[in-house]
Amino acid sequence: MSGSNDHIAENARRYGKLAIAEAARLLQAGKLVAVPTETVYGLAADSTNPEAVAGIYRTKGRPDFNPLIVHVPDLDAALRIGEFHPLARQLADKFWPGPLTLVVTLRPDAGISPAVTAGLDTIALRCPAHPVMQELLRDSGLFLAAPSANRSGGISPTTADHVRTSLGPAAPAILDAGACSSGLESTIITTMGEDYTILRPGPVSPEDLEKVAGRKAVAPKNKGIQSPGQLASHYAPSKPLRLDALDASPEEFHIGFGDVPGDANLSAAGDLAEAASRLYALLHQADASDRPAIAVAPVPVHGAGLAIADRLARAAFRS
Ligand code: AMP
Ligand code: MG
Repeated sequence: MSGSNDHIAENARRYGKLAIAEAARLLQAGKLVAVPTETVYGLAADSTNPEAVAGIYRTKGRPDFNPLIVHVPDLDAALRIGEFHPLARQLADKFWPGPLTLVVTLRPDAGISPAVTAGLDTIALRCPAHPVMQELLRDSGLFLAAPSANRSGGISPTTADHVRTSLGPAAPAILDAGACSSGLESTIITTMGEDYTILRPGPVSPEDLEKVAGRKAVAPKNKGIQSPGQLASHYAPSKPLRLDALDASPEEFHIGFGDVPGDANLSAAGDLAEAASRLYALLHQADASDRPAIAVAPVPVHGAGLAIADRLARAAFRS
């Protein structure tokens, strides 16, 4: 985390040290706060407070079998909550702070509310890189459970406005730090000895993981839902969504990519990282438009494109 302290100080000035201190106070009192991370906005609560955690599920309308990610300020904090095998430790060393979530064995004495893990003996941990979230974690001294700050199953929020639109009157205080830079939820992996499985693709790509782990990911065993980011329908707008659309009908809001201009373009330059950071903002825009349907141009399925394709497939799925 070298060099990040100047960053934190600068951002605390820009976004208001007072706002961060106030958010810390609310969280310590068991309230919810919507918080910025580099992936999407999170709906945060003290992970050791059962009532506060219940508030997350209630506010999101989230099924309580869907466990939450706990956010920590650094690896030391994570080691107090979970047991890290050497590979998990190696990946945390390399990718933290950043958009990688590690599912590890929960230490029973960690004090985490059972509702956080939905009763599992494993826990999902992440150390976020966003300087405001980092400062909040340090200021509050809390380990924050935080799923995305939207109604369950809906489009994830990448701005404070999205949080307000999605949660409506249920929206708690929002620590507004502008748009999220990465824009897609974290990559989630679980490690088993020397092997690892990708439970949810995200900003840290399979190639990135392979370089550090020295081996490819093992395919997930299909024993029920390990990670509800794996639910067939998730991240979904309220309208039908058509994929691989080079053209669109007048009824459709067309989200373009590269040379396919669309009504709005994920990245005119064809840049996948830019497309990932804009995906949810454009889905929100399309959902709010006066057209009854959405069409999305083809996006290449490699690197960051893999996670984009994963989210679009779930957004398009109708049961
Ligand atoms: P969200 O908070 O909305 O980004 O979703 C968190 C994701 O982490 C969900 O897909 C959860 O299923 C997954 N997750 C959290 N805890 C665990 C765990 N112990 N084992 C597997 N997946 C988990
Ligand atoms: Mg979510």
